[in-house]
Amino acid sequence: MYYGVIKKNDIANGPGVRVNLFVSGCTHKCEECFNADTWDFHYGFEYTDKQTAEILEALKPDYVAGMTFLGGEPMEPANRGTVLELSKQIKALYPYKTIWIYSGYLAEELLARAGIWTADKVPTYEQVPRNRVLADYSPAADAENLAALLKLTDVLVDGEFDKNKKNLRLKFRGSENQRIIDMKETIKQGRIVLADYKDRA
Ligand code: SF4
Repeated sequence: MYYGVIKKNDIANGPGVRVNLFVSGCTHKCEECFNADTWDFHYGFEYTDKQTAEILEALKPDYVAGMTFLGGEPMEPANRGTVLELSKQIKALYPYKTIWIYSGYLAEELLARAGIWTADKVPTYEQVPRNRVLADYSPAADAENLAALLKLTDVLVDGEFDKNKKNLRLKFRGSENQRIIDMKETIKQGRIVLADYKDRA
């Protein structure tokens, strides 16, 4: 996996002070994407154990609330293995720190590909238009890893950026179609459960 940047004291992408990893590679190609350089899977630097050590150290202070993965697309098959391994280490060392992931995929798509939900729960293109529609919702080749990653994720901010629904008042998201999803409750209840974050007035 490649990455563009690691930010160690971010307050824009999730609650509290957070460490951010901007991974490289994204196939959604949203118009007016805020970070189009990162569509290239080889943008930036190669991710190695050195970055894992750096991130784990940055997460250590009590004032750091957690980790946020964004990009790029952390849920691309090429990236999610590395994101999973790092997430496991974060939860082992800091079980009370939260993991947020930003993904252009819908939560239902990811849950179906992970084999946690069935394909009939995935909205059709007519219900939710999107650039990157997965052709197949049978469990992915790495379904077990994807399921493990989704279960470690506290919050998934899902959906592609839609320039026509851009709203600067939104908290922790760029366009109104995107959802801030409580993944623990979503998996437990078998339905999408939104996390409660108020937008700016
Ligand atoms: S999903 Fe995110 S990184 Fe990918 S094109 Fe859309 S806005 Fe850009």
